[in-house]
Amino acid sequence: MSDLVKWLRQQFNADEQAAPNVHALDCELTMTAGFSGPCTCGWADRLLAEVDADRAILDLYEQTEFGDLSRRTALEDVIRLRALPRADRPGYRPEWRP
Ligand SMILES: [Zn+2]
Repeated sequence: MSDLVKWLRQQFNADEQAAPNVHALDCELTMTAGFSGPCTCGWADRLLAEVDADRAILDLYEQTEFGDLSRRTALEDVIRLRALPRADRPGYRPEWRP
């Protein structure tokens, strides 16, 4: 599990760096004639907020006592699910699937 947490933190760092450059192609603002960017629709801010929330999940997991098995198991399930959208990236392991 610690390898998955470490890999996910790397993915979140990459997502954070890419957020300002990654954008929905069909955004109402960018489709407007004369648009010159950066877009102010909130897409990048939303991506960054998701990264923050995902990091908080990892923090909760790492702060949970080893003896608190039900909480650890529940957080592990959440972490595996949050990793799934990134399963096509290098380093993802099949055994991490939920
Ligand atoms: Zn936009």
